[in-house]
Amino acid sequence: MEKTLAYWQDKAATLSIEGRAFIDGEYRHAANGRTFDCLSPIDGKLLVKVADSAADDVNAAVAAARGAFDSRVWSGLNPRQRKAILLRWAGLLREHLDELSLLETLDAGKPIGDTTSVDVPGAAYCVEWFAEAIDKIGGEVAPADHHLVGLVTREPIGVVAAVVPWNFPILMASWKFGPALAAGNSVVLKPSEKSPLTAIRIAQLAHEAGIPAGVFNVVPGAGEPGKLLALHPDVDCLAFTGSTNVGKLIMQYAGQSNLKRVWLELGGKSPNIVMPDCADLDRAANAAAGAIFYNMGEMCTAGSRLLVHRDIKDVFLDKLIAAARSYTPGNPLDPKTSMGAIVDQVQLDRVLGYIEAGRAESKLLLGGGRVKQESGGYYIEPTIFDTQADAKIAREEIFGPVLSVITFDTAEEAIRIANNSEYGLAAAVWTSNLTTAHEMARSLRAGTVWVNCYDEGGDMNFPFGGYKQSGNGRDKSLHALEKYTELKSTLVRLR
Ligand code: NAD
Repeated sequence: MEKTLAYWQDKAATLSIEGRAFIDGEYRHAANGRTFDCLSPIDGKLLVKVADSAADDVNAAVAAARGAFDSRVWSGLNPRQRKAILLRWAGLLREHLDELSLLETLDAGKPIGDTTSVDVPGAAYCVEWFAEAIDKIGGEVAPADHHLVGLVTREPIGVVAAVVPWNFPILMASWKFGPALAAGNSVVLKPSEKSPLTAIRIAQLAHEAGIPAGVFNVVPGAGEPGKLLALHPDVDCLAFTGSTNVGKLIMQYAGQSNLKRVWLELGGKSPNIVMPDCADLDRAANAAAGAIFYNMGEMCTAGSRLLVHRDIKDVFLDKLIAAARSYTPGNPLDPKTSMGAIVDQVQLDRVLGYIEAGRAESKLLLGGGRVKQESGGYYIEPTIFDTQADAKIAREEIFGPVLSVITFDTAEEAIRIANNSEYGLAAAVWTSNLTTAHEMARSLRAGTVWVNCYDEGGDMNFPFGGYKQSGNGRDKSLHALEKYTELKSTLVRLR
């Protein structure tokens, strides 16, 4: 059966939505009874009232996680057993694809075509990938004196708190809880107050799959429960994805409390460089549009700075603008929609504020306005400015569908502009010259560099994270397990 707009609207009308926290294997209201309104950015209407977790709830979740960890009910399983349970959970995520995708679309305004094909399957795949890996990784027997046996092993770190953002709610969360749970830790997940619903729902599915009570907990709320987790003396590791400003606070909270391990995946202002010898300007223009307009530009890796060589600028901009026009804001529940709603009024105002700043200092080439206001939701059209590298819109992360185009004359100048940023999450270069490609890739100070593509590498094999103030540590790949394990040397004297 074809899943049309009407199909998703019918399903949305009858969807039952859970808003309580999930602690120690069961749903609970916040201990003080407080809730906050969870609105849909599609039309601004109330979806559900969500538990506003406070100190009592955070303490209960951490205590449950610690109890489960110390009892070894999860950490003590043979990795093969953890694998089986996690694979069951991933299977349930796939079985509930429609429900979870719908929740994500209603909650975050993302197009249903994306949540069904990227976000929810991507989260299931992440759980599967780490489940499949965990019973195949061993430790080391290190070289040592003849009378010694030296073992190097990895052990789960204990209680992992994951604090995540709203732009890819289930996917970003899975990049934390996937490796953390596979390694044997207990997890307390704090979803964003702007998009808490899939996190809350999958906790029940985790329970159904056989993840023991206390091993996976969810405490929704705004910044406060995140701060309480970061200050908590019984949290061993805090894995954070979000803004650089809050990342800095998290590091301070760790320093003020127990020096918990802190891993940060933060903001970006990624440069996408088009050299004059780019072999396929049409493909580059399509990719440049996708790099900033996919997911309404609410992407940490957004190619928000487009650096174009002066010789090809005019022809490239024509192609870019044509490609950008295919991103028309529409109803996120319509499978044909390629661009959905901005997550909430606050983010809408923030993006519109940047557009105003752009109008004052740059030349507007496309868009620049709020649209579909009659829907009650929050929509902004694809917006492109011709600007300078030092303009406010070209330096600060906007996290919306606003592209800054910057002109350059030499590869050295492009690299200088690209690297002149507090961020270093991702970068791309388009060229047909192999030497230029490798030299520029080496010079770019970023955790991921794409050559002749953008945002490729959707599988789990590549570490993901930032240089500079884009963070530390890496999500995805086997390297992610380093964040959630302690390294132990055991030396046994034989005689
Ligand atoms: P944010 O920093 O405002 O919030 C992130 C999370 O931190 C939320 O759950 C929020 O409730 C919580 N929080 C807020 N204040 C807190 C505090 N004082 N202590 C503890 N927790 C607190 O970020 P956001 O607006 O949700 O997300 C957008 C940001 O996330 C952008 O900067 C984007 O680049 C970044 N991001 C990075 C990656 C990556 O992998 N590098 C991926 C996605 C998003």
